[in-house]
Amino acid sequence: MAGALVSALLDARSVELELLEELNDSQMLGERSHFVEPPIWEMGHVGWFQEYWILRHLDGAAPLLPGSDGLYDAFNVSYRLRWDHAYPSRRATLDYISEILRRSVGRLESRQPTPEEMYFYALVTQHEDMHSENLTLIRQTLGYPLPRLSLFEPAAATPPLDPAYRPRDVLVPSGTFLLGATADEPFVFDNEKWAHPVRVEAFRIASTPVTNAEFQAFVEDGGYRRRELWSRRGWQWRRRDRAEHPLFWEPGGAGHWCERRFGVVVPLPPWHPVVHVNWYEAEAYCRWAGRRLPTEAEWEMAATFEPATGRKRRFPWGDDQAAPGRASLDYRAAGTIDVRALPAGDSPVGCRQMIGNVWEWVEDTFRPYPGFVCDPYEQYSQPYFGDKKVLKGGCWATRGRLIRSTWRNFYKHHRRNIFAGFRTVAL
Ligand code: FE
Repeated sequence: MAGALVSALLDARSVELELLEELNDSQMLGERSHFVEPPIWEMGHVGWFQEYWILRHLDGAAPLLPGSDGLYDAFNVSYRLRWDHAYPSRRATLDYISEILRRSVGRLESRQPTPEEMYFYALVTQHEDMHSENLTLIRQTLGYPLPRLSLFEPAAATPPLDPAYRPRDVLVPSGTFLLGATADEPFVFDNEKWAHPVRVEAFRIASTPVTNAEFQAFVEDGGYRRRELWSRRGWQWRRRDRAEHPLFWEPGGAGHWCERRFGVVVPLPPWHPVVHVNWYEAEAYCRWAGRRLPTEAEWEMAATFEPATGRKRRFPWGDDQAAPGRASLDYRAAGTIDVRALPAGDSPVGCRQMIGNVWEWVEDTFRPYPGFVCDPYEQYSQPYFGDKKVLKGGCWATRGRLIRSTWRNFYKHHRRNIFAGFRTVAL
């Protein structure tokens, strides 16, 4: 067991470091004007978090770097100050986080971890995985080139397709659904606890996320200029941001659209899911299309419910961890893929790609499940309840060891630079 914890920890770090490769000192600081952290902060923060929970919390060790709490504690140091600190150099930051990793691995070498230790090793590994995804969207937002990640598999970007496949609505019958994680899950966050019965009426949900071609029809029908399609808060956001189309789209001339991916402008692929849209844009599209977002219970039910048995699966395809033919995860595709691909990952009702490719906004505001109790990492969920919207399923830059159908991601309504799309439900 210790071996598996160590290899996951080392793997998370190697991806994190690959994502920082080839960034110069000015790129490591980034730009204050965007909703992204400086990469140099990201680099120190993942090591600080590991030190905090493994070396300091479990062992009572003193901090290696005096003043590190004042730099890298995400919750207690204001986001606005992240460009004002005098950060240690890139070399010194790397030495700091490498020494913490060496000690974290070393303390597992001679003995079997306790259940408490296993929990915290999983926590810091998944935390680093989440920050790797964040670094990826930082690179996308700032127009830095796509890094050469060893996890890339060129064939995964263009998986085999059945060209006759057409997205359609699938029926999910009414029933009582167990929303949330069950106690047999090896690692869960506090916000997924615990599975509780929710009554869901029958609904019809799209078998795929909304595509670029579908969203383009909304844009070209004046979707961003028609007040009646937007909620009051959505319209306020649209006017403030002067949004006319998804964040990275650019007019390509003659009715064509392009998108900027890691600083490179490419033709918009019509069958890929729309990505980098916020919750308000999803809401307005739904109103235009005469549809709505799924609730979180509907989304999870469409992903995991077996109508024949009434059972809930861990994943759309069954109970086994994600595999390449079933979900686009782990950076393999280096971007979004065609929504028609990966039929082996379909859910029992026929929804495709509910895990991987793009995160999917749902209707719900992020709130605790009944009986919520904070886990030791108290700032993970609780400060954000009632304030953010839920996203489900993970994206191409999410690690397979982290994602599951009960996972709840959460961002503010207006966040556009995350790898998020959505699917819709018939009214
Ligand atoms: Fe963090």
